[in-house]
This record gives sequence, C-alpha cells and structure tokens, in this order.
Amino acid sequence: MSIAGNVGLPDLPRICPLISRRVQRSMNAEESRIVAVRTVRFGDVRPVVIAGPCAVESFEQTLAIARAVKDVGAEMLRGGAFKPRTSPHDFQGLGMEGLRILREVSRETGLPIVTEVMDPRLVETVCEYADMLQIGSRNMQNYPLLIEAGKSGKPVLLKRGMAASLCEWLGAAEYLAKEGNLDVVLCERGIKAFPSGEYSRNVLDLSVISAVKEETFLPVIVDPSHATGVAGMVESASCAAIASGSHGLIIEVACDYPGAAKPRCDAVQAISPAALANIVRFIDMRMEHFALRKAHAI
Ligand code: PEP
Ligand code: MN
Repeated sequence: MSIAGNVGLPDLPRICPLISRRVQRSMNAEESRIVAVRTVRFGDVRPVVIAGPCAVESFEQTLAIARAVKDVGAEMLRGGAFKPRTSPHDFQGLGMEGLRILREVSRETGLPIVTEVMDPRLVETVCEYADMLQIGSRNMQNYPLLIEAGKSGKPVLLKRGMAASLCEWLGAAEYLAKEGNLDVVLCERGIKAFPSGEYSRNVLDLSVISAVKEETFLPVIVDPSHATGVAGMVESASCAAIASGSHGLIIEVACDYPGAAKPRCDAVQAISPAALANIVRFIDMRMEHFALRKAHAI
C-alpha cells in the first residue's frame, strides 16, 4: 500500500522527521511503537479500550463508571477534570477536585487514567495525578502546551484538531517528539465536514487510520463518541474503527449508581456498559480469529 505518493504528503518527512516512518527506518512497515501506560500497551496486537465519563462529576459517579467499564473489559479510565466547553457558562469540570477523584478511583480499581490538560501552567500538576495526558482537539495546535507536555515525559494522547489536516496533526506530534517525548498516541475524533451537526456531531475519518500508519510509527486510536455524538452510532463506529486498523478506542460511558443524574456533559453520546461489552466482544472475536488463522498457517 502506498498512500503517500497519491495524496500530496511530500512535505511530511521535512515537517516531522522524528516521527516519520519514511525518515526513521528502524521499524518495519507493519510495526508501531509500543507506548506503555503502566500495564497498558498501545500499538500492540490487541486494541486498547479506554472508557469512562466525559467529565468527572463526583467520586460516586466516577467510581461506578470505572467499575462498570472494568467489569466488561476496559483497560483504562478516561474522565475530564478540566473541560473545554463551547459556552463559558456551562459546567467547566471539577478542576483539582476532579484530579483527586480520578487518582482515588484509579487506586480503587487499578485502572490507569487519561485526563485532559488545557493550560501549559497546569501540565506539571496534572502529571502528578494522571498516567497519560490528553491534549484535546481544540488545543492540538497550542504549541506552548505541546512543548510543556513534551518536556513532562508523560505519555500523551494527542487528539486530532477538528479541522486539522494530517500534516498539521503530525506536525503537532513532532512538537512533543522534539522535546524528547515519543510516547505519543494519536487519536482521530471526527472532523468538521458536510453532515456535521445534521445527523452526527462530526465525521469519523476512518481512512486517516491507514494514512497515519503509513506515515508514522506512532499508534493511532479512535474516539467514536465525539466523532458521532450519538450513542446509537458508537458501537458500529467502534467496530469499523477496529476493522480499519485502529490500535484502540476511547469511549464515553454513563451508568446507573445511587443518586445518578443525567451527565452534565455530552449526555447524548454516552453509551451503557452493556453496549461497551458488545464492543469488547467484537475485539475478542477478531483476536480469536487472528490467533486461529496464525495457528493454521504454521
Ligand atoms: C473529550 O475527550 O472529553 C473531548 C473534549 O474531546 P475532543 O477534544 O476530541 O473534543
Ligand atoms: Mn465529551
């Protein structure tokens, strides 16, 4: 497969030599860098499932969701303490209290944590609580933030800007690499295109997965929750992403717990633990299929 020659990416080796597969030739074409977050391995054969609430709202909510997603096979917990909201009047997240809750829930469940950092001045603080820093779509090109996150040495989940080209996205990852941080996982989360807002929130760009894998050795995962914005679309988008070669998924989940209220953020795209279980089963089936194929080939 050669995508690069066809779609005008000749500048990539110059823009991002440190992460370019065409420049760094130590890995073979099928291999990705393994980015380890505690026991979780991005870029390995089995796709990683990260799940959790959009926003951390309380200890009870976060713990209930963490237990529910762990029960059905999620390996890592997501949850925003600092939320980038369109309106400054909307819930902005619990901030430091949210970080403390995440740390406590991680201790209870053993799940590593990824959480968003928006402010370069807070990178050091968030690093004390999180196992992986999330840089959100709106901040993909916040270069001072990328430089701080790069210097921190923490694994980074770098979401694609909602209108970012592949060059711009990989250029952002290069900022992290230039600071010596190659523990970067890319995340496609839907882009602005014609149907945005009509029947789905964004448009899930599945073809970019192959293009990313061709151009860089960094692992790439998919966020079907923000890509579709509709709970009923998340399962099919997840399976399609896995079938397209994604190294993992990051999914928003809500569940019942005593005193549960409607999520304060992105309620319509949150799926149930039962729906998450179907997605994990799809991954299990594919893994079994590949194992069988390999066994027969020997
Ligand atoms: C999120 O994951 O909570 C989030 C805000 O995502 P994005 O930056 O992709 O919009
Ligand atoms: Mn969200």
